[in-house]
Amino acid sequence: MSAPVSSVASSIPVKAIAGVLTRMSKTYNPTATTAAIGLILPARDPRAIRAALALTDHDKTAKRGTRHNPRLKGTGDAARAVQSDEINYRAAYIEKASQRMTDSLKSGKTVREVMREERTYYKAHELARANRQASALKVDAATAAFGGLLGWRSRDDGKVSPECKAAHGANFSATSRPRIGWPGSVHPHCRCLPGPAWATKRTVDGSTIGMKVA
Ligand SMILES: [Zn+2]
Repeated sequence: MSAPVSSVASSIPVKAIAGVLTRMSKTYNPTATTAAIGLILPARDPRAIRAALALTDHDKTAKRGTRHNPRLKGTGDAARAVQSDEINYRAAYIEKASQRMTDSLKSGKTVREVMREERTYYKAHELARANRQASALKVDAATAAFGGLLGWRSRDDGKVSPECKAAHGANFSATSRPRIGWPGSVHPHCRCLPGPAWATKRTVDGSTIGMKVA
């Protein structure tokens, strides 16, 4: 199946970093990987790039991101697409993290200090990854139950985000991730779920034009 490439991976440097991470995943070498990413991002401090790779424990996670997780074997398209797309999210994280840490190093902080500060962002990145995987598994379960056209269900309680509220009552294809992400992964505490299609022609992408992109 053709995995929908997320917009997060659409920038040329992020795609190039994802390529480096993929190529380096089998024979991971921090020095070579740092140098390769440094060619793509020449304005970054190499110590910041190396710190970003260290924070993400890249020698282990690269392999996890580029191979199918055996626990996901036999699951559907959405979970597999998320799995193969994770390397792009990881590349986007390394691009942003190395910028943040380059800025902090310029302000005179030590590598140890900037890595400690960066942990908050890294935790958010990992939480988002877990959300993407969990929500993709729910989409696959809903596909098995209701078919390839699914309906977006949000909560209408005042805490709902504008994106989720707009998507509620619209439909999406189980084989093409909506721009805002799968239901349940739009933001850290997204409570949306996939369900049977609504009796409408309204689509999730059509209802969320111009809104935050996953
Ligand atoms: Zn939501």
